[in-house]
Amino acid sequence: MADASAPYRIRGATGDWEVVIGLEVHAQVASRAKLFSCASTTFGAEPNTQVSLVDAAMPGMLPVPNAECIRQAVRTGMAIDATINRWSRFDRKNYFYADLPQGYQISQLFHPLVGEGSLAIGDPSVDGGEDVVTIGVERIHVEQDAGKLMHDQHPTRSYVDLNRSGVALMEIVSRPDMRSPAQAGAYLRKLRAILRYVGSCDGNMEEGSMRADVNVSVRRPGDELGTRTETKNVNSVRFVMAAIEHEARRQVGVLEDGGRIVQETRLFDPDRGVTRSMRSKEDAHDYRYFPDPDLLPLELDEAFLDECRASLPELPDAKRRRYEALGITPYNAGVLVAEVETARWFDALLRTGVPAVPAANWVTGELFGALNRLGLGIERSPVVPDQAAGLLALVADGTLSGSLAKQVFELMLETGRDADAIVAERGLKQTSDTGAIEAVIADVLAKNPGQLAQYRGGKEALFGFFVGQTMKAMGGKANPGVVNEVLRKALAG
Ligand code: ADP
Ligand code: MG
Repeated sequence: MADASAPYRIRGATGDWEVVIGLEVHAQVASRAKLFSCASTTFGAEPNTQVSLVDAAMPGMLPVPNAECIRQAVRTGMAIDATINRWSRFDRKNYFYADLPQGYQISQLFHPLVGEGSLAIGDPSVDGGEDVVTIGVERIHVEQDAGKLMHDQHPTRSYVDLNRSGVALMEIVSRPDMRSPAQAGAYLRKLRAILRYVGSCDGNMEEGSMRADVNVSVRRPGDELGTRTETKNVNSVRFVMAAIEHEARRQVGVLEDGGRIVQETRLFDPDRGVTRSMRSKEDAHDYRYFPDPDLLPLELDEAFLDECRASLPELPDAKRRRYEALGITPYNAGVLVAEVETARWFDALLRTGVPAVPAANWVTGELFGALNRLGLGIERSPVVPDQAAGLLALVADGTLSGSLAKQVFELMLETGRDADAIVAERGLKQTSDTGAIEAVIADVLAKNPGQLAQYRGGKEALFGFFVGQTMKAMGGKANPGVVNEVLRKALAG
């Protein structure tokens, strides 16, 4: 069996290869209006209904930066501990394509808004996934999205939809610090979680709010970086991992056959799980970048930065440490912070004052199980945090046993009612009344003389049988601790 803690390697005919990955993530800024116009960004609108004169590049129209988009990018930078550049500038990236009416994209090459930062991932490619790897982020710059070509509307014509034209994107450029498909997957999931905590991007990969350009090279362990290829616009974590896997193996094949890797742009074909060549890679100078003369440089003042910083929520790593300090297991803490909705729900539950450990166990066990079965996200849970607190309190004070709590929870899911109302109405209260339990046990023993004789003759496994009979006779409502105690005495006597 492979050593789970060994670094990820591709085994070639001539020896092992290391894979090097850098990701450029395009994240759509969560903002109602576009980067330089007030047209709407709502997803799924009829083609060309959300296009201002600026987005359509009408002559003489001037872009006006949307402060909210800048603010969201700055907050994102702060969330990955990045340098925020108080002075930055927009540049024109010139190219011709039918989805780009201006003939250039407004982007930031020379002076991006956000500089060097980093984020930590658990490394799923090593044993247990506990080891923390830090992935560098080189920069985050702000730029416009292009429109979209529609090739499937007419047999011989293509159409252009400019709804996306001018929508604000953050391009989040990692260092080539990842060494396995699993690390790249963990980086994307962590980045997505941070964006969603911050609220700067909805992270919806199916709707294209987050896409990754995947840079891959291979080398002998210890060598200089190899030549990379860039696979464009991959739109799910699974596809990113598959694209890396395929592309790295392809490169190893080429190199081992004595060939060399050409720096090129490739496309991932999700149906076949392969990447294929699209065009040779262009360099920055091919785009004739120059400062956009229609826009002043961005200068951020201290008050703006202070406001951005103050508005940041508790982030996943800090939240996870807080949960662990409450005694929650690292595994459960990791599960509870992974999705912002789960963390919000759990924090609301903690605010009711319930003890953290049983609450965490209940949420990750009972609640997740029920939501899975019902196909619901936690934000649509039929049982809200206050109601869960009511249920947990009844368990904590001994009113409900574990199995009664499960029954009550099912009824809460069905009816939407509170735990104490259900308990009162259906008489589901657990009884710890020793006298009542003694009476039932005496009855059970009297009705099962055969089993009683066997038990006293040494067949101790029958203890469970008597517990079961007692529970059954009491409709599951007896306190299991008291039943055990009373039964032991009765059987001994
Ligand atoms: P460009 O903007 O032309 O794509 P950059 O130099 O900005 O080029 O790099 C883009 C991405 O490529 C970054 O995420 C970086 O980490 C990654 N990268 C650079 N060199 C390599 C390499 N040798 N192997 C894998 N990824 C690389
Ligand atoms: Mg690139």
